[in-house]
Parts: sequence; structure tokens; C-alpha cells
Amino acid sequence: VPASLVNEFSWSKTRDHIFRLCPRRYWYAYYASWGGWAEDAPEETRQAYLLKKLAWRWVWVGSLVHDAIEVSLRNLARGIAVLPVDRIVEITLNLMRNGWRSSKRGNYRDGRGPALHEHEYGIPVDDGEWRRMAANLETCLRNFYASEHFAALSALPPGAILEVEEYSSFDFEGTRVWAVMDAAWRTGERLVIADWKTGESQPGSQEVQLACYSLYAARRWGLDPSSLDLLEYNLLLDRTHRYRSDQGTVERTSSYIRGSIADMRSLLADPARNVPLPEERFAKVARGEICEGCNYLRICRPPLDGERLHLP
Ligand code: SF4
Repeated sequence: VPASLVNEFSWSKTRDHIFRLCPRRYWYAYYASWGGWAEDAPEETRQAYLLKKLAWRWVWVGSLVHDAIEVSLRNLARGIAVLPVDRIVEITLNLMRNGWRSSKRGNYRDGRGPALHEHEYGIPVDDGEWRRMAANLETCLRNFYASEHFAALSALPPGAILEVEEYSSFDFEGTRVWAVMDAAWRTGERLVIADWKTGESQPGSQEVQLACYSLYAARRWGLDPSSLDLLEYNLLLDRTHRYRSDQGTVERTSSYIRGSIADMRSLLADPARNVPLPEERFAKVARGEICEGCNYLRICRPPLDGERLHLP
């Protein structure tokens, strides 16, 4: 069996977030949906896998913005000229329109194109809202290409851009930890690691994520936390939040990750093979405000007395 087809236990900030939100959601996302891409997979597995891919409109639009920037930064790293921003905006808006149509037609059920939560669950979104999403997308891109960060990246010598949205991981006490960074580059003796945000995130809410980057940088490049500049740039608001990375933050994050891994592993029947306990051991949070946003609502059907939710 190829390594990529083994359901290896690993840790990421996203996994931790889902685990904290609802253990049953975590079970759907990391166990029940595993293997659902195979033609001969059982129907429940295929369903869970299909639902796993759903994205809310703002998350999806954010990923289009990230993808556009990723292409530009890869080009910069290879010495290829970046397209004018008007052209990037036009291409990305087109992708948004086409992706939305494809999702509305349900192409994702055949494994094609994006899968929007709104379409799977029949949640109405009026034209005004789609226009606002398109306007936000454009604002994010225009802010990014006019930002000091893009200017700094454009002025770098060849080879100074180290990573762009790569699926990077490191070993943390025997567990693989994923640290996918939006961009990492060298300036003199220092390393800058950046996260692009496209929503109205609370600055400072990313401490664990950014401290993971410090752990990664220490292992990958042998860098001390004090030689890192961690920044979170909110593209929608054109606002940069800088983080200090020090040994204390790294230690706090390490104990957080250690605790989170232990909690997750306590729900494994066979930790060596990442085999989970039975489904019932993964409690349903069953709270309206959390379930409403959940991909698996359709198959989970949580007991929500008197709460009105969109169910197909
Ligand atoms: S619908 Fe609610 S209870 Fe069910 S998995 Fe999702 S968040 Fe958990």
C-alpha cells in the first residue's frame, strides 16, 4: 500500500480545531471519510468523503485568493514576471464565477470542481451577497499586490523565497505535525514566515499556528525562534499583525500540541495503526450554532430539540 494511502495519525491546527469543536465531526473528517475516493468504497464512506470536501463560500473565496497569490510567488521564486494585478483579479473572478456555477450544477458529486456548502444544503445566497464576495475577493487581491509584503517579496534576490504553500511537516515527539505556511523568505540573517488571512480574523488568534512554524523552522533550517519574524497579514483589512517568537511561546505551544495529541490518541483502539474506537465513543456536540456550520449535518442528524436548521 503506498504511504499516501495509509491513514497515518498526524496533527495540525485544523485537526485540533475540529476535534475541539465536536468529536463526532472529527471522526467523520479523519476516519469515516477515509478511502471515500475509491470506486468500491462503501456508500457511507463515499458520503462522508463528499461532505468532507464542502467549503463555505467565504472559505472557498479565500482559497481562490490564496491560490492566485501562490502562483505569483512561485513565479517570483523562479524569476518569472508576475501578471499585472488587473489581470490577476480578472482571472480569479472568472474562476469564482465558473466554480460557483459548477458547484450549483452539482458537478462535485462526480468529483469535479469545488463543492459549496450552500449548494449541498440548499442554503439560499442572494445576488447581493455574491457581489459582496466578489468585491471582497478583489479588495484582498488589490491590497496584497499593493502591500509592503509583496513589494518586499518582489525585491528579493533569487533563492530567497523558501516556501510557498508547501505541505510541510515535521516530527514532533513521534507524531507528524503539518505546518503549511503561505510564504517563507530570507531577509539578511532573518527568516520571515507569513500567513495571509482573507476574513475578519482576530489578530493574535494565530499564536499556536505561528508557533508551529517556529518549531518547523528550527527543525528544517536550524533557526532559533529569535531569528524569525512571524506575520499575519489580513488582506481584506490591509492590516499586519506581527508576532514575537521566543522560547517561551515555543514551549507553550509544544505543551499544547502534546496535550492535544494525547486527547486525540485517547480515542484510538489501536494507536500504532491509528484505528479509532467505535463511532459512539466520539460524542456529538449537538449545539445549534456549531452544527449549523458542519459539513456532516446531513449524515449525523444530531438531536437538536426545537432548533431550526437547514436540512435537505
Ligand atoms: S452535526 Fe453537530 S453533532 Fe453532528 S458532527 Fe456536526 S457538529 Fe458534531
